[in-house]
Amino acid sequence: MDSLWDFPDFDGHELVQFVTDRESGLTALIAIHSTHVGPAAGGVRVWHYARTGDAVVDALRLSRGMSYKNAMAELPLGGGKAVILADENRSKTPEMLAAFGRAVERLGGRYVTAEDVGMSVRDMVAISRETRYVAGLPASEGEVGGDPGPHTSYGVYLGVRAAAKRALGKDSLAGLHLAIQGAGSVAGGLARRAAQDGARISLADIDADRAERLAAEVGANVVAPDEVLFLEADIVSPNALGAILDERSISRLRAPVVAGGANNQLATPEDGDRIHQRGILYAPDYVINAGGIINVSTEYLRDGDESAVRERIERIPGRLERIWDESIATGRNAAAVADDMARRLIGRA
Ligand code: NAD
Repeated sequence: MDSLWDFPDFDGHELVQFVTDRESGLTALIAIHSTHVGPAAGGVRVWHYARTGDAVVDALRLSRGMSYKNAMAELPLGGGKAVILADENRSKTPEMLAAFGRAVERLGGRYVTAEDVGMSVRDMVAISRETRYVAGLPASEGEVGGDPGPHTSYGVYLGVRAAAKRALGKDSLAGLHLAIQGAGSVAGGLARRAAQDGARISLADIDADRAERLAAEVGANVVAPDEVLFLEADIVSPNALGAILDERSISRLRAPVVAGGANNQLATPEDGDRIHQRGILYAPDYVINAGGIINVSTEYLRDGDESAVRERIERIPGRLERIWDESIATGRNAAAVADDMARRLIGRA
């Protein structure tokens, strides 16, 4: 490969910046996919990449995903994402966060950062000492801000209910069997709400203690991580990793619905067709999991209160409905329909 332009995931990204700070040891990448709709917003991830090229691919894909997610959520924000290339322990120091904050500040607001994998509200506070262009900061009672996770969960829960209605004709999750992959922040919020509605829950996490704790709290059944996607459930909800839906796993699915909050669930675009051809209803990930960025956006732009956030998240099911309707009308898979809608919104049809 000769240049960045040859990366298959390069999609006319407006800017890809490599950041190194010798003193703190920071190595990071900031990718801005599109500012067509507004400043590029998306979290910063701390990850250990075996090869630098993997970090580039991640930043390219994730930033494009944020363009799609923000546009579909009708937020006045473009898409961007940053990755901090960490050691195997994914350690980060206050100096590294400060250097990252300065890099964000230098972009003058074209990129707005927030939490992603490996980053906490506390880290955002450290970054905010060096830049104004950050959200996901602590909020006091009644203010918009803080951890986006619970807001993502709420949107995923609403999306799961919409899918249950569409595919199974059920107005509630009562009595339905929900198989949840992951027992973290998003999965936890979904499991609590679904349990309250009377769903039967099976869940799995590679962190066995985490799975046990959540299961005990919501009265769920713990299953093996390599089985959870393939249970004979009513709904499978991936809320852990990306790229879990590929040719092999899709052929083994036994549930009529896949709806969950994990980012980048489809390994390749062809997997959108595969899932469609099996007659499984799929909720495009960046549409159903937009609750967190809706909260971040409202905090950053100061254009609403908590009830506005709620009301914006409650539009997620309607968006899924439109995608599923168009999928039926055109015979195209739901993920491709969503991508087309998003690309039209960012002027890249
Ligand atoms: P989290 O770190 O709180 O939880 C993820 C959980 O998945 C962890 O407990 C981890 O042990 C588990 N896990 C990892 N690999 C697994 C596997 N193979 N099988 C089963 N469990 C596994 O993260 P989160 O914030 O809940 O995010 C979950 C997913 O949702 C991620 O894909 C994330 O990108 C996506 N997402 C999160 C938000 C948010 O606001 N937190 C927003 C949008 C999308």
